Amino acid sequence: MTDPLSGLVRAWLSEGGARIADAAEELTRLDAAIGDGDHGINLARGMAAVASELDAGPADRSGAELLVAAGRRLISVVGGASGPLYGTLLLESGTRLREASTDLPGLILALEEGVAAVGRRGRSTTGQKTMLDALVPGVAALGAAPPDATPAEAGAAAAEAARRGRDATADLVAQRGRASYLGERSRGHVDPGAASSAILLEALAAALAAQEMASPAGTSR
Ligand code: ADP
Ligand code: MG
Repeated sequence: MTDPLSGLVRAWLSEGGARIADAAEELTRLDAAIGDGDHGINLARGMAAVASELDAGPADRSGAELLVAAGRRLISVVGGASGPLYGTLLLESGTRLREASTDLPGLILALEEGVAAVGRRGRSTTGQKTMLDALVPGVAALGAAPPDATPAEAGAAAAEAARRGRDATADLVAQRGRASYLGERSRGHVDPGAASSAILLEALAAALAAQEMASPAGTSR
């Protein structure tokens, strides 16, 4: 039996890769202001490697297996802080998804565990001007969607919450990563990792909306 989440995870990661590639210059510009200016290039290269991994590997992999493979790929391809952290997000989400139900609530639980693992790996939490400032509220909004919300509506709420979290990083002083070396001077700039996280949640929202259009009755929720 094919895993109902397999198509969704593929659509999410390939849409995410396309959007990160489009935004690479902007992400690099944000990182140049408070870091070393490599975030867009790094992540675009990593997501391109993920896309070829998804194309090259077996076509019948479950959503969980796809997330694990993508996470491993990101960890090995992307240097810097964000590679291991995004790799951890996908790897841990995939590992948790193996034990969760293969529907949207199962994926949401797995993503919540993935985001928690990023915090453990980075010894970080919200309010420190990192990717977590977009990931935590974004994934929380996905989980908090009312039971009668469609997957597309839940995805849209997640993307909106992530964008608000991203924007709010401009007022914060960085306490993790390279930007923390700037101290007070990091204030006034959006965190590049929060910006890429908002893009990844927008890609998830797009994948959820596309899946809903393909099967309006929706067996996934
Ligand atoms: P590097 O800082 O090594 O050049 P990148 O530029 O690819 O790595 O990524 C920088 C982003 O990584 C930051 O904008 C921030 O969002 C995220 N980041 C850095 N350190 C941490 C951490 N400890 N916890 C969570 N996110 C972090
Ligand atoms: Mg950098």
